[in-house]
Amino acid sequence: MTPTTSYYPHKTTSDLRASLVLFQLLSFPFFVRIALFAWRLIDFFRIPLSPFIRLTGYYQFCAGKDVTSCAEITSRMADFKVKSVLDYANEHSENETDFDQNTSAILQTIRAAAKSNVYPFAVLKPTAIGSFLLFEKKSNGISFNDAEVIAWKQIKSRLESCASLAAKSGIVLMVDAEESWIQLGVDALVLPVLKRFNTERVVVAITLQFYLKGTFDTYKQLIDDASQYSLGVKLVRGAYIEKENKRAKSLGISSPVCDTKAQTDNQYRQALALGLENLPKHLCIIATHNEPDIQWVTQSCKQNNILLNHKNLWFSQLYGMRDYISFSLASLGANVFKYVPFGPLRQSIPYLMRRAIENSSVKSQTTLERKMLKEEIARRKTNA
Ligand SMILES: Cc1cc2nc3c(=O)[nH]c(=O)nc-3n(C[C@H](O)[C@H](O)[C@H](O)COP(=O)(O)OP(=O)(O)OC[C@H]3O[C@@H](n4cnc5c(N)ncnc54)[C@H](O)[C@@H]3O)c2cc1C
Repeated sequence: MTPTTSYYPHKTTSDLRASLVLFQLLSFPFFVRIALFAWRLIDFFRIPLSPFIRLTGYYQFCAGKDVTSCAEITSRMADFKVKSVLDYANEHSENETDFDQNTSAILQTIRAAAKSNVYPFAVLKPTAIGSFLLFEKKSNGISFNDAEVIAWKQIKSRLESCASLAAKSGIVLMVDAEESWIQLGVDALVLPVLKRFNTERVVVAITLQFYLKGTFDTYKQLIDDASQYSLGVKLVRGAYIEKENKRAKSLGISSPVCDTKAQTDNQYRQALALGLENLPKHLCIIATHNEPDIQWVTQSCKQNNILLNHKNLWFSQLYGMRDYISFSLASLGANVFKYVPFGPLRQSIPYLMRRAIENSSVKSQTTLERKMLKEEIARRKTNA
């Protein structure tokens, strides 16, 4: 995609050079393996990380340690019409204290969104507010013991407090999708809340993963039912492919994930077509870094006279990844937001590790990022 102004208008040239070095390093799987090992050691021995923050990739993929410190970056992006959604990067939470802290961080992001049109949505990851094992038990229809009954009520109350604040604040709260084997439990929690709050407008939006077989049919059914409540969906391919396949193998069951990337791509494309056809009926958030898909959507909008800034159509990419796509879309007039992770450095490490693994395992990803960064640096040199 070609932006009208700059591929990375929110970054200085020295930021771009730092990104280039990082993506260069991420293109060496051996380096990434060593870095992951070093991170684990640093975390285990509680070695202070702050002096090395520039070496961790933190500034490439995270915007700050708290909501306030993210404002500099998010308002800079908003100057170029790219909005943000603050995503509290606290993965692997384990206890009630963590879940309560995460909930209060999510509530802060909703309050920030209520005050600023830089943040059109907020986001919540189910396992940030409740135990993975509890969602798994619920999915498998296993009865809870007394303590678990109380814990489940707590999860429900955390979700309700976020949804209620989002409702009062005029914000959409997106719920992320995680591993397939906890999804029934997540649905049991989220869908009743969604139906209760989504009467006049979308307050709670859900995520559909199209690497899972049969998700297109689920989407179609949701759209058919959309007359009963307001529907909002985020369309993703799915982030947990290795875990899904590994688990299926270890249990000797067939994987819920499509057998090939082409099948996932095909299902995702069908979903995009269905989403565009039914835009008047629901809020559709296209969350992908896949350039051919995004080009296909912009072309389809043109052919079918759908405005790229249709109020029900949004595009989204992760902060620090495919920034040039986000700014290009915004320069074409589309509604775009970046998923912007934030949180203290130590707590963000699992998120940074995921980004490192994702970038190093798909070589074309780092190659493309580096190509775009180099082009932008060269362009700025010529224009200087
Ligand atoms: C804003 C945003 C929000 C997101 N939220 C979520 C979320 O809530 N839950 C979630 O799970 N993910 C989420 N993701 C991540 C997303 O699911 C993808 O992992 C990521 O975006 C890469 O896919 P892609 O569509 O961008 O591009 P591509 O690079 O074209 O696709 C890569 C994806 O294709 C699929 N794939 C790869 N190889 C195969 C194979 N052999 N067989 C079958 N399928 C294959 C996998 O899903 C893989 O991630 C989000 C992404 C974004 C940008």
